[in-house]
Amino acid sequence: MKFAERVENLPPYLFVNISRAIAAKKAQGIDVISFGIGDPDMQTPAPVLDALTKGSMKPENHRYPESEGLPEFRTRVAKFYKDRFGVNVNPETEVINLIGAKEGIAHTALCFIDPGDISISPDPAYPVYEIGTMFAGGKTYFTTLSEQNKYLVDFTSIPTEIAKKAKTLWINYPNNPTGAVATKDQLKTFVDYARENKAVIFYDSAYASFITDPDLPRSIYEVDGAHDCAIEINSFSKTAGFTGVRLAWTIVPKACVAEDADPGKLHALWTRRQNTFFNGASNVVQAGGLAVLSSEGRRQTEEQVAFYLKNAEIIAEGLRSLGITTYGGGNAPYVWMKTPGGLTSWDFFDKLLEECRVVGTPGSG
Ligand code: PLP
Repeated sequence: MKFAERVENLPPYLFVNISRAIAAKKAQGIDVISFGIGDPDMQTPAPVLDALTKGSMKPENHRYPESEGLPEFRTRVAKFYKDRFGVNVNPETEVINLIGAKEGIAHTALCFIDPGDISISPDPAYPVYEIGTMFAGGKTYFTTLSEQNKYLVDFTSIPTEIAKKAKTLWINYPNNPTGAVATKDQLKTFVDYARENKAVIFYDSAYASFITDPDLPRSIYEVDGAHDCAIEINSFSKTAGFTGVRLAWTIVPKACVAEDADPGKLHALWTRRQNTFFNGASNVVQAGGLAVLSSEGRRQTEEQVAFYLKNAEIIAEGLRSLGITTYGGGNAPYVWMKTPGGLTSWDFFDKLLEECRVVGTPGSG
């Protein structure tokens, strides 16, 4: 059987290859320490487990959910934005739940990309930005994150013809994989660029809760004008150990426009996508999400985040003490290192696995 051509040409999914490498070692009876996909390994806080259990006992929670999310869930997300980020978002018209940031990212392309369209993504980046675009038949223009530009997207490097053509921009801070963070002034340059080029920013802030520096922005809406050009995606995965439970949210402002679309059209398209493809997260899972965003849930998840940041610090310090250059950590769970001795990142991945039984993520992936 032949699949659609654009699907036939998809690159392998990085983390599947990494899982296979781990499984092969485990099959030989060898235990490995995995820093691969960034899967939190602490127990989800007890009040959250309790809320998930109680939520699962209510028969009404087993029915189709309201696809944009329970009103109380959306209100609590908006309150979290106000308390934690100092940002106003409207729970009824802007907050929409997701079954994971990945789902939102991957399906985004199907709504906003036509075959032949271009989307802009940083390189390196979370691979779903590119692969989602490929699923929709589009192409990605990569803008390089490097030591020279401090791993910050440099829009001045994008050729004018690409800037005019590209409708969608992927931006992610705190950044996976480099651990870089953006200041408010830097976010403003992204917003200015999007407004000038009538493009939409998909701001992936899955790691916003890892920002400890009070001067750094945790949401793109801290920048004036972002409501007109940015959709933000956040997730419970890394802060509350929800990688398996699956819950995330988007902020899709009605004011957000792309090209010459009228205000509200993007929002309507997003909810159409949500209603048609998956009906939103289950009510049981949202009961858990409500507990994560309660004051006790927030306190306990913040403790877990602090623990992961401490791990990152230990790893970075250890590497630096060996004379290895590192970036990230501090305001991000990721540590990005320069492979020693001119090894490629996959060669270093193999060496680390064979000699130390530790799994990293190769930068080139
Ligand atoms: N965005 C980034 C940058 C990520 O690193 C990840 C997961 O590793 C995701 C999104 C996906 O998050 P979720 O588990 O909510 O699908």
